[in-house]
Amino acid sequence: MSNDITVAFGDGIGPEIMDATLFILKEAKARLNIETIDIGSSYYSKGVSTGIPPHVWKTLKHSKVLLKAPITTPQGGGYKSINVTLRKTLGLYANVRPVSSFHPFVHSLHPMMDLVIVRENEEDLYAGIEYRHTNDAFHSHKVITKSGCEKIIRYAFDYAIQNGRRKVTCMSKDNIMKMADGAFHKLFNEVGKEYPDIKQDHYIIDIGAARVASRPESFDVIVTLNLYGDIISDIAAEVSGSVGLAGSSNVGDDFAMFEAIHGSAPDIAGQGIANPSGLLSGAVMMLVHLGQHDVASVIRNAWLKTIEDGMHTGDIYNASTSKQKVGTMNFAKSVVEHLGQKPYKFKIADYAPLPDDVKKPSEYIDLITCEKSLIGVDIFFSWLDGDYDKLGERLNDLAGDDARLAVISMKGLKIWPDPEIEHFQSDCFRARFMVDSKDGFLGRDYPAKLYQRLIDAEIDVVQMINLYDFCGELGFTKSQGE
Ligand code: NAD
Repeated sequence: MSNDITVAFGDGIGPEIMDATLFILKEAKARLNIETIDIGSSYYSKGVSTGIPPHVWKTLKHSKVLLKAPITTPQGGGYKSINVTLRKTLGLYANVRPVSSFHPFVHSLHPMMDLVIVRENEEDLYAGIEYRHTNDAFHSHKVITKSGCEKIIRYAFDYAIQNGRRKVTCMSKDNIMKMADGAFHKLFNEVGKEYPDIKQDHYIIDIGAARVASRPESFDVIVTLNLYGDIISDIAAEVSGSVGLAGSSNVGDDFAMFEAIHGSAPDIAGQGIANPSGLLSGAVMMLVHLGQHDVASVIRNAWLKTIEDGMHTGDIYNASTSKQKVGTMNFAKSVVEHLGQKPYKFKIADYAPLPDDVKKPSEYIDLITCEKSLIGVDIFFSWLDGDYDKLGERLNDLAGDDARLAVISMKGLKIWPDPEIEHFQSDCFRARFMVDSKDGFLGRDYPAKLYQRLIDAEIDVVQMINLYDFCGELGFTKSQGE
């Protein structure tokens, strides 16, 4: 494996914690050829919409390994997240976030906590596909693929085996998102059958997140979708002692990126007080990835000894367990002074190459394809008049010979025919047109013809979605009350 790596200093506390991390790597004699890149704000102003110019992609293509400090993403508008662009473009499908507590040296309510979150990294609401349909309504698309789910689930099971872990817990919200989260849960059960030696269970994400906060010691490996994984890893790191402690690897078939799990912490940037441990932990994972297990172990042991010796940054400082409150660079200097030493209480780190017989998670079940038949169309439209009976009659007249209006709903709740309660809440409605005969299907030109009739009738259509039957299984959910 080459020793070439690319380094991005990031925003906010990024440059401070990266300086500290690179200082430790250098003093520990990590064998690295470093090329530094600049991404983000300086390029947006030059019209590079991704914030990543072409020469940076070239550098990344060459090194295949990126050590990245956190980057600021504007909230509620502005440019897209560079972090998400990097993860998706480089195919980094697995985000691995180990979190443990460092009791009794770092205060935590959970002294026995030692878990790993394996977060799906390319799909879900992070696809960032969002629309404003009407004056009132915004829709975000949650994108889930069977192949993406299977990839991350297999990765989690293989990770458990390779790292001597005994249990994999799946977290999803398939009581509500029965199709997307349901596919994830079903694949977990299916793929799990191939790993009989690993214990397996499932939590609905809300109680799962609560249990991560209240009983984290009951978890070993957790595999979950992108958004849930992001949230529970911050919860896990925070209850372990500080969000500043945890690092992560973003792994794909060809590239890997290593970082802290926390963000750019603009509230403390420039003060020299940030904890560099999360990024350092990511850098240790990077050394293991590069095959420099010796240096990784030396750095991790020096870091553990520094924590045991009570040299603590402000976020983990506690008068009863800390000896000295130190800033970012003095913490790094303390780690360097401890190089070659081993912790006396914590388990000594001794990273080793993976045994050859452990297969890499690169072979996946073929997707079983089946013929899909068009059996209906959903139309989203803007509407302000509250007379739903009249609306129903009007739309039904436009359904055409082969189909009928089955239901009108708002925010997924049926409002026609026979609503339970009549109330007007929004201006965005969905009309579902279904094929009229039981086993029939619609022609491919039905949606276009329906669209034209709706436009001619001055219905303000904002989106149209085809409804399919997949070998007897409906490819859409019903409205509440339908
Ligand atoms: P944050 O993680 O930056 O900060 C949350 C809190 O934790 C703050 O009080 C901060 O001071 C503290 N904190 C974080 N890291 C610390 C450290 N190393 N040492 C001490 N204290 C630390 O979360 P945020 O404020 O929600 O996000 C700030 C920015 O970071 C946003 O623009 C967000 O999009 C971005 N972000 C980037 C990444 C990434 O680059 N991978 C990840 C998460 C958030």
